[in-house]
Amino acid sequence: MRSQLYLVCVAAFVAASFLCQADDRKQPDVASDRPTECPDGHRELKDVPILYGKVSYDEQLQRDLADLKYVLGGCIVGKDSPKTALICGKCRFRYGGDGGWHKSSTNADLFSMPFSKVLLDSVKLFEPKDPAYYDQTVEGKRLIIQRVQFKCPRDRKTLDLEVAQLMQRNGIRRENSRYDHEVFYGSDAESGVYQVWVLTDQGNQLLDLTISPKPPMKNAEKPQ
Ligand SMILES: [Zn+2]
Repeated sequence: MRSQLYLVCVAAFVAASFLCQADDRKQPDVASDRPTECPDGHRELKDVPILYGKVSYDEQLQRDLADLKYVLGGCIVGKDSPKTALICGKCRFRYGGDGGWHKSSTNADLFSMPFSKVLLDSVKLFEPKDPAYYDQTVEGKRLIIQRVQFKCPRDRKTLDLEVAQLMQRNGIRRENSRYDHEVFYGSDAESGVYQVWVLTDQGNQLLDLTISPKPPMKNAEKPQ
């Protein structure tokens, strides 16, 4: 009786192993396209359900986001929109599906690749009351886009002037401006193209400073 039970267990184990192998063989593309580590080399990658649409940013949602029960997907959802996002459970880099990884935080120290001095200087210069949002997009081990956004306690004219002085101090020249709220568009040889957007939100100026590679982003549009 005991040996029969043993045999059943062995048979079940062999069948399970076979099924697992068969399953692996069925999806070679998915397995090979899926990264196995984040840009920081962590292997704790997790498929997290994406929450689309307008959300109420209450305490429960904030806890769920912190626990990686969900990630936010924005307001626009189509039938091809992904249902899950691949996220590093350790550092929160999010895979974009196109080889690029993206990360946002209010703490610049949580990024292993340092931000440009100009971006960090802009936060020091304006001393925003609310936390600044830092963003990076990384491909492989290369920093492609870096960005900082914050509410600026300045009127528009003073802000334009101080941004221009900040750029000048860092040797970044003004080139052109495509939109009214884009106050500066310069570049330097090393870092790429600097774009500064100023948006007015309930009497506050929202400063958005992005550094992207040359040539500028193909789909550069007004930020939302
Ligand atoms: Zn990571």
